Formats: sequence, C-alpha cells, structure tokens
Amino acid sequence: MQKNLICIACPRGCYITVDLNDSGEVVSVTGNTCKRGDTYARTEMTNPTRSLTSTVKVEGGAHPVVPVKSAAPVPKGMLFECMKEINRATIKAPVKIGDKVIENILGTGVDIVATNNC
Ligand code: SF4
Repeated sequence: MQKNLICIACPRGCYITVDLNDSGEVVSVTGNTCKRGDTYARTEMTNPTRSLTSTVKVEGGAHPVVPVKSAAPVPKGMLFECMKEINRATIKAPVKIGDKVIENILGTGVDIVATNNC
C-alpha cells in the first residue's frame, strides 16, 4: 500500500510517497529532499504529532493573554484535549518567555511554555 503526504517540516512542502507492507510497516520513503522529510513521514505513519500554539489567560498583567506553545510536538490525537486544557488555564503575571504555563500537559511529557513576556 502507498500513502502520499506533503511534508510540513519546512515551507518547501515536498510530496512524499510512503510504501507500507501488509502489516502497515514503512518499507520505503521517497520524494523527500532531506532527512527531515524521511523522519516526518515515518513518524506520521506510526505516531503522528503536531506542535501546538495558543494563548493562556493572564491575571494582573498588562495584557489579558500571553502566547504559548508546546515545548515539543504532542500526539496528534490529543490536540483537541490539550487545547481544552490550555483554554481552561490561567497564569498570574508576571510571565517571562520560557516560563512553564502547564507542566506535562495531560501526561504527554510535554510542557506548555510562554513565548512572550507579560
Ligand atoms: S523533505 Fe526536507 S526539504 Fe522537503 S519539505 Fe520536508 S523538510 Fe523541507
């Protein structure tokens, strides 16, 4: 079986073809221009992940919210639940870039960190 993907690891957006055997294991990856595309395609077939960006409410800050991101990609299937958790969260000012806003979100091992000061 073949799967076609567009690599999202950089703006070039290479068209990648993944050949899978009957067990769903990756046999080959073609069309990628670099090693990152190979890694992206294999991860996408086994445990797809995505980085998260959003905002979290701030109490007592100059702005009502602070931008945040996941410190590493989270499992794609948990994105919606992670967003709900982020939407429920509130942090007290002051907030500095890199501060952990949510530690180990939903047991994924990934922290949600601030990407600006507030
Ligand atoms: S394969 Fe490499 S060059 Fe192509 S989109 Fe992915 S990261 Fe970019």
